[in-house]
Amino acid sequence: MTQIASQLSIVLSRLKEVVGDRYVVDRTEDLLVYEYDGSIDRHLPAAVVIPGSAQEIARCVAICSEAGVPIVPRGSGTGLSGGAVPTEGTIQVVTSRLRKILEVDTENRVAIVEPGVINADLSAAIEHLGLHYVPDPSSQRACSIGGNVAENAGGPHCLAYGVTTNHVLGMEVVLANGEMIWLGGEQRETPGYDLRGAFIGSEGTLGIATKIAVRLIPIPEAIRTVAAVFNSMDMASKTVSDIIGAGVIPAALEMMDRVTIDAVEPTYHPGYPAEAKAVLIIEVDGLRETVEEQSEQIEAICRQNRVASYEASDDAARRAELWAARKGAIGAFGNLRPNYYLVDGVVPRTKLQEVLAKVAEIGAEFDLTIANVFHAGDGNLHPSILFDERIPGETEKVIEAGGRILKLCVEVGGALSGEHGIGLEKQAYMPLVFNEDDMRSMGRLAPAFGATGHFNPSKVFPADNGDGPAFSKARRSGTHDVV
Ligand SMILES: Cc1cc2nc3c(=O)[nH]c(=O)nc-3n(C[C@H](O)[C@H](O)[C@H](O)COP(=O)(O)OP(=O)(O)OC[C@H]3O[C@@H](n4cnc5c(N)ncnc54)[C@H](O)[C@@H]3O)c2cc1C
Repeated sequence: MTQIASQLSIVLSRLKEVVGDRYVVDRTEDLLVYEYDGSIDRHLPAAVVIPGSAQEIARCVAICSEAGVPIVPRGSGTGLSGGAVPTEGTIQVVTSRLRKILEVDTENRVAIVEPGVINADLSAAIEHLGLHYVPDPSSQRACSIGGNVAENAGGPHCLAYGVTTNHVLGMEVVLANGEMIWLGGEQRETPGYDLRGAFIGSEGTLGIATKIAVRLIPIPEAIRTVAAVFNSMDMASKTVSDIIGAGVIPAALEMMDRVTIDAVEPTYHPGYPAEAKAVLIIEVDGLRETVEEQSEQIEAICRQNRVASYEASDDAARRAELWAARKGAIGAFGNLRPNYYLVDGVVPRTKLQEVLAKVAEIGAEFDLTIANVFHAGDGNLHPSILFDERIPGETEKVIEAGGRILKLCVEVGGALSGEHGIGLEKQAYMPLVFNEDDMRSMGRLAPAFGATGHFNPSKVFPADNGDGPAFSKARRSGTHDVV
């Protein structure tokens, strides 16, 4: 047995003492399910531990830290930037057994949840109280609130209401030495530095969130969902700019292009016409009068921009049908190709038309099909490059095309990520928006939290070994062939 293997075996025995044999996974065939997230990188962890409580997480973290074994926190593994993908020699700490809603305080409209609680389960559990938790990633039936905190997740309804950071008041965090601290609290304002804000979006590099205090919001009095079908992508993009330009901020303003329509039709049967080139799903909510007023404005703008068909519904069942294709679009890409690589760039809304045209040009240049389904209202593009990783050279081509799209977003004044984080995938592009001083000062945060490579090493910041993007490096150093 090599020294590393014997050290790992000691760590695993200690972890088993904490969580029980059943919750430490180290057989290769069992580890396979933990090697990937929703992105295209994959790598086997050295082992996986699945603690059953915050205290167990703290003890596991302390054991790994003492032995110098780095940890990759993992929620549901739906991330789209490789954040939960293990790197060489790491142990994954999975939160999937921590699924309790610990407290619901209706008077103060706060809930305390464990990190493994599935996003959609929280709103479903409190619906009878007339409350809901707003951030609703399209993956909300699978992703965890701990993962949402780590990625500062957004979602269709974040346009008017704000993203995760606007709805998380505080969290209990396990630090590298196993200490448990609270960042923020249960109130909107807490004195001192806003370390809560620093932790949200830190992609599992600072610690593990073990309890989360979230804001709850009353379910609006009225909700109306619109499906507006356009025969031109340009007119749909113009409609997005015109709606926001008119001062109307809908709760959600989402766009699907023709490729996405082709993907969703066989599964969700929305029945969009053959000549449709783009669909906007728009939702307005609030007081009944506000909903009426905003809907009228939106309908007028859609008609000015030659909408081909327009349906508005207040009926909960019909609204769910109008949303189904949008929320299920990414999974439905499987109807067209076995793999997708989803690029998460942000552009100023006024540049939507220009950038979407250039994305199409990049697709043509690389001979790749690109589907667009995205949070149009906040300019958060999701060009999804559809491909088949079994075709030699295809993945490399996709990564190159994705890089070109990200550079394009930055060139027009946008950002590298709207909501999916940097992870492994975009770290090589960080220098496009940050200079070395910026990155050095951000890098000082982990040591300030006592985490120096303990949590999620090789994520977020570019690898400085000149060996190309760590993004593709994890894939290259994979311990088995792509299945
Ligand atoms: C079909 C589909 C649609 C999606 N739609 C959206 C969308 O609309 N909006 C959006 O924002 N995202 C979306 N995503 C991306 C993804 O669902 C989110 O990033 C989500 O927040 C990840 O949660 P998770 O539990 O799966 O986290 P994981 O993938 O397991 O982990 C993500 C990151 O969080 C860290 N982490 C996990 N748990 C903890 C914890 N308790 N403490 C500290 N760090 C932790 C991990 O180390 C990793 O860096 C989508 C993904 C898919 C597959």
